Amino acid sequence: MKAEQLLIPVPTPKSPEPKFERPAPAAKIKIEVRGLSCFYGNTEAVKRVSLTIPENRISAMIGPSGCGKSTFLRSLNRMYEMVRNARIEGSILLNGVDIRTIELTQLRRRVGMVFQKANPFPKSIFDNVAYGLRLEGWHGKRLSEAVERSLRRAALWNEVKDHLHKSAYDLSGGQQQRLSIARALALSPEVLLLDEPCSALDPIATARIEELLHELKETCTIAIVTHNLQQASRTADFTAFFLSGELIELDETRTIFGNPARKETEDYITGRFG
Ligand code: ADP
Repeated sequence: MKAEQLLIPVPTPKSPEPKFERPAPAAKIKIEVRGLSCFYGNTEAVKRVSLTIPENRISAMIGPSGCGKSTFLRSLNRMYEMVRNARIEGSILLNGVDIRTIELTQLRRRVGMVFQKANPFPKSIFDNVAYGLRLEGWHGKRLSEAVERSLRRAALWNEVKDHLHKSAYDLSGGQQQRLSIARALALSPEVLLLDEPCSALDPIATARIEELLHELKETCTIAIVTHNLQQASRTADFTAFFLSGELIELDETRTIFGNPARKETEDYITGRFG
């Protein structure tokens, strides 16, 4: 065989059908999405997506900008109800129960959300984390202990414990993002949704958050939207590739990045588009 032939990778045959609803080995299903379509007016931003999100794992959604990743993620705690003209078809089950039958405050407590840009309230560090718990009547020692616990889980406690009553705005971008995570964790969510949580952060702050996600999956199910393919390959157990509102492929992360079944996935992860 000629030397140049050895250098040319032999393409593996690509299966024509998407592999929807791939079962997660050895993990319980936390969220099951069945035939989900999300509309803004007449525009179908997410098209008949079915997939499962396994418990205590990190699932990443990747795909080019505008492919419906955020819309999909936000549907998982009914954020579309805040958007005029938005509606969904299909169903989303949390532990087997349709999320539309769960009281909204309860659902948002169980399925917490962290956004792209850290969004601390104009309050102290302590008050930011305590916010949701106070609304539920927590106070005194029980409240301070819960705030400490959440800050510890978000790997921020050691950096802020001596100035809990300083403004959250005094924190760096990476610290503010961990504060947003602590605020979500204070309500002990079963699922944490993260929408591009590191896109405004430098590599060191990003590495800190990724490390944190790895620790959090012990107690939480995590779904993360990221445009950063390295981040998905470093952090996620499962990766779902979206294109034009459709789920093209979902598999274990090492398969998506090492041996994807679909040509579109391969083209995307090798940088041929997007
Ligand atoms: P991604 O997260 O992959 O970048 P999005 O879910 O944000 O994609 O957007 C998917 C599609 O839905 C895009 O065409 C976008 O313009 C559209 N879209 C997103 N949010 C809204 C909205 N509030 N109103 C109307 N269209 C929207």
